[in-house]
Amino acid sequence: MAPEVPRGHSPSAPGEFEIIRDFFQRQSADADVLLGIGDDAALLQVSGSIAVATDTLVAGVHFLTGMSPARLAQRALAVNLSDMAAMGAQPRWFTLALTLPNADVDWLSAFSMSLHASAGEYQMTLVGGDLTRGPLTITLQLIGTVPAELALRRDGARSGDLVFVTGTVGDAAGGLRLLQQQVECDDRASANELVDRFECPTPRVSAGIALRGIASAAIDISDGLSADLARLCAASGCGARVDMAKLPISDALQACFGKDASIEMAMTGGDDYELLFTAAPAERERVITALSLLDVTAECIGECIAGNAVNIHNNGRYISDAKPGYTHF
Ligand code: ADP
Ligand code: MG
Repeated sequence: MAPEVPRGHSPSAPGEFEIIRDFFQRQSADADVLLGIGDDAALLQVSGSIAVATDTLVAGVHFLTGMSPARLAQRALAVNLSDMAAMGAQPRWFTLALTLPNADVDWLSAFSMSLHASAGEYQMTLVGGDLTRGPLTITLQLIGTVPAELALRRDGARSGDLVFVTGTVGDAAGGLRLLQQQVECDDRASANELVDRFECPTPRVSAGIALRGIASAAIDISDGLSADLARLCAASGCGARVDMAKLPISDALQACFGKDASIEMAMTGGDDYELLFTAAPAERERVITALSLLDVTAECIGECIAGNAVNIHNNGRYISDAKPGYTHF
């Protein structure tokens, strides 16, 4: 079917093919891209198994409409890279399905430059996509490689395994609240740090790869620690006990929101894109060592237990069962 071509209001606005050529088509140094942008499909050379993931960002749902195109590109790639990280996959290629209200050259230029720059940081190549007119929506599909037997799946956790989380949690939820102006924070440096964490999360790609053969299960935190832990547990057929006194909470979050609200956001706030993973107790040292080589911190926040409940404790005392995080429906 002929596509709806995004054309701006100006008569000189570029058409679909100019947009693809001028903003998205680039020479690739990747010898495994046998055929990139321009044909009906890309041809990629692979040996072994691939990991495939896709994520959509809709204006007003996944990002606030005022977000700059450069940050938007970075965020779109980061949330998708996070899925690769959570599988322990090496990201390689991606496609971009872009829906635009109009062909705004300045917007396209800023968006595409940032997208190519972020992709370059991870040695990723854009190999295809689609372009349509409509409300601003960005869908990326990522393809990565990982030996199937080493992939970090959600279903490998066993009762007795330790539960770890990388980095700090709750920051993105804090950043979102600041952006939505639900709260004021006089500490500008801390506030900016939290907003950055929401808009441009750091996908834990090398951490995921380093955890191959060490972690028993993994998931990335997109909907909130308790919700995503519940998913990992459901897939693995176990429960978990989390001690909220052990949650890694940043100084910035505490400075802006205080301790209690920080803990609440760390448990239930989404969009952190940290890795939540499990490992047998005997692997504790290997976990810490493998990640510290990458300058990534990991905190042991609890353990897997028999049953299917996710229990929250505070310094060993039972508080409640976990509340669900964000869902769209
Ligand atoms: P078709 O009609 O066969 O689907 P298109 O006209 O949609 O082809 O796309 C032409 C080529 O440009 C394809 O190789 C496609 O992958 C690529 N492409 C389209 N949109 C984008 C985009 N936003 N980013 C990168 N490549 C794109
Ligand atoms: Mg198409």
